[in-house]
Amino acid sequence: MNLDFILRKSLRKLKPYSTARDEFKGKAFVYLDANENPSESTFNRYPDPHQTKLREKLASIKNVSPNQVLIGNGSDEIIDLLFRAFCEPGIDNVIIPQPTYGMYSVCANINNVEIKQPLLTEEFQLEVERILTEINQNTKLIFICNPNNPSGNLLNLKSILTLLNQFKGLVVVDEAYIDFAKSQGLLTFLNDHPNLFVIQTLSKAWGLAGLRIGIGYGATSVISLLSKIKPPYNISSFAQQEAIKALDQPEQKNTVVTILLTEREKLVSRLGSLSFIKRIYHSDANFLLVKMANAKDCYDHLIQDGIVVRDRSSMTHCENCLRISIGTPNENILLITSLHKFQTSISK
Ligand SMILES: *Cc1c(COP(=O)(O)O)cnc(C)c1O
Repeated sequence: MNLDFILRKSLRKLKPYSTARDEFKGKAFVYLDANENPSESTFNRYPDPHQTKLREKLASIKNVSPNQVLIGNGSDEIIDLLFRAFCEPGIDNVIIPQPTYGMYSVCANINNVEIKQPLLTEEFQLEVERILTEINQNTKLIFICNPNNPSGNLLNLKSILTLLNQFKGLVVVDEAYIDFAKSQGLLTFLNDHPNLFVIQTLSKAWGLAGLRIGIGYGATSVISLLSKIKPPYNISSFAQQEAIKALDQPEQKNTVVTILLTEREKLVSRLGSLSFIKRIYHSDANFLLVKMANAKDCYDHLIQDGIVVRDRSSMTHCENCLRISIGTPNENILLITSLHKFQTSISK
């Protein structure tokens, strides 16, 4: 990938911070180079700034090269890094088809980058022609969330490939929910499309939201540039160790995913028997977008019963919609019980 087109001017000659561990590699007896506290404890040393073991582990699982892997303090850090690397504040713009995950726009605003927001269709699919007409010479990034949040559906692969072929900036595909979908995702397209950047996370299917591990996969040139601008010690030793432990037990993740998918289908059928529910959108993720007669009243009723869901009513195409995460079997029963009570209360 030739970065000259998208890279911020000030970064072309950036000399990154060189950590003590960058200047001396190898093994020594005595480390007096990083002003660490010498009293031995689990965390008295700085973590590996390159997250080498974790990146190698992920690379082998995903069948990519470690040089195509970047670890962020959550996906959110990776999204922010993309803006800081590639978008000139006050000049450049990005395309964020709506409705989708809110962090792309928040990061754009923080970085003073203009947002173009063509709508998804009412079925939450990409309108490729509309998107292509929004592109100009200052368009650097297009954000695609696949499966999309808050709608839950996978996007048409052909549409994403068209954007990859027609756009010379980066197409960022956020695959936070890909482990719940019947899709391999786009990682297999990485080598043929250097302008593809895929974001995944350990926060959802892997059940490690509190650990803050987001992963970026991209062309080696893009990854090496982002590694230069990320804070050197962005991932704690603890998080690196725990992430590796979890990745060594994929069966555990797969079991949880299977349970959640079974629970999702049970919820779909139980929600379908409630008369105030107008539509349950098809989901390829661990949540359901549900359209109803009166989302606000339903939301308030659930809160009274101690159940919190996400009111997405104010988003385009999501009028009167609640977004409901799939919980444990017991939590889902509590949800359905409360919704039956709500139905009884409004039909009186
Ligand atoms: C939950 C979610 C993430 C995860 O973000 P982390 O910072 O990795 O926890 C990323 N993208 C989307 C669309 C999400 O819904």
